[in-house]
Amino acid sequence: MAGRILVVDDVATNRIVMKVKLAAACYAVDQAENGADALKAARDTMPDLILLDVMMPDMSGLDVCRALKADPATADIPVVLITALTDRGSKMEGLEAGADDFLTKPVEEVTLLARVRSLLRASDSVRELRGRNDTVSAFGFAEPAVGFEGKVHPGRIALVAPGPKGAVLWKAAIDDRIGGEVRIIPRETALTEATSEDRDAPDVFVISVDLAQRNEGLRLLSDLRSRPGTRHAATVMILPEGDTERAAIALDLGANDVLHDPFDAKELAIRISAQLERKRQIDRMRAGVRAGLDAAITDPLTGLYNRRYALHRMEQMMADVGGGPAVMMIDLDFFKNINDTYGHVAGDKVLQQVAHRLRAQLRSNDLLARIGGEEFLVVLADTDHEGATDCAERLRHAVGGAGFDIGGNAAPVTVTASVGLSLPGHLSSLSVTPEMLIHQADTALYGAKAHGRDQVSLVRVDAA
Ligand code: GH3
Ligand code: MG
Ligand code: MG
Repeated sequence: MAGRILVVDDVATNRIVMKVKLAAACYAVDQAENGADALKAARDTMPDLILLDVMMPDMSGLDVCRALKADPATADIPVVLITALTDRGSKMEGLEAGADDFLTKPVEEVTLLARVRSLLRASDSVRELRGRNDTVSAFGFAEPAVGFEGKVHPGRIALVAPGPKGAVLWKAAIDDRIGGEVRIIPRETALTEATSEDRDAPDVFVISVDLAQRNEGLRLLSDLRSRPGTRHAATVMILPEGDTERAAIALDLGANDVLHDPFDAKELAIRISAQLERKRQIDRMRAGVRAGLDAAITDPLTGLYNRRYALHRMEQMMADVGGGPAVMMIDLDFFKNINDTYGHVAGDKVLQQVAHRLRAQLRSNDLLARIGGEEFLVVLADTDHEGATDCAERLRHAVGGAGFDIGGNAAPVTVTASVGLSLPGHLSSLSVTPEMLIHQADTALYGAKAHGRDQVSLVRVDAA
């Protein structure tokens, strides 16, 4: 993973030392010697990461950091503050200014490079998600993640510590500082939460590097990273003072942040809050992408799949079911009359209810799509001739058997359906295409219409 890093320091020697370290790890390095230049360079070159000296004559690194975070164009760029100061106050100030980390001069190389890799990886995935989100919006599926905002919860934080005493101390340290639910859980519980795509899974895990056994926290970290329910959770690893080697390992295993014990309670709280915020932003983007993808394959009126998805899914089903599945085309009879008599809105209501009734008759692995105005496609996953014919009759009854409510005081409206059915064939799936099966069903449908509508008409697939 290549990366472009902006090094900001008023002392040329410091910049050069940093540049040599980073260039040796194959990063492209830009330099700025004061705050104003740094802000300009950040905007012009959009680096993947900024290493920012705190003490500079024109503008302090903290102010530069605040300015970067306040500008939407640069707010996502991770910032690591580099400082000779080790006092608590300036450290807190830096983290509160939005910096991702705080490294003390002289900067130790292993820690620096592990931190750089970790931050670049994180910003890479944010960038990719943002790209997909933008694509989805550009295609007109900009539906905001409906209801998602409403579901924002205060955040769930899980603490996994070696003994009850340690965990209670951590909890006390952050309880009043974080508006979220903080739980102490044993390692085993963390793992069971990882087994499913559970909406209630923790947002942030704070894990001690050593649990009952040495390095058990590192192993837990890898486990959480690899399981669907917790893959996207943020992780903060707590290590003994001076244990920079394992801190680097933790970052490379996917920890989002590391902190050395004994730590300042406020610092832990700030770091957890930053991770919560980041996780929320990513969740939001992910939900946006998902909503966009759903919109791309769904018919907005009925919520059924659209034609594009149906053809794709049909190909998959045909690969699974050798010989070609049963395919139905269902077309509502004289539907134009419904619109002409009751209006288009009433027609839409009927279409929605038809979709609902059809769906209720089918199994979850059958495919139902609205592929035209008042035309529906059904593909039965696993059935024989008799099953397919029965199903076609059931669907016809489901539509024509009872009237449709069109609102107001109007009496229910009766609508019937004609069904063209292409029975499951015995041919090699290689020779049959979705289009051929749909054409067969369409031909059968034409027969049903010609013979008086409100009926099922059959075609066997042998001609293919
Ligand atoms: P047939 O029995 O031959 O199928 O008659 P028909 O009137 O159903 O057939 P035709 O294909 O001539 O007309 C279909 C009508 O379906 C045209 C249009 O008024 C209506 N329609 C198509 N899409 C929609 C829709 O999204 N909403 C509503 N309300 N009506 C639609
Ligand atoms: Mg029709
Ligand atoms: Mg039609």
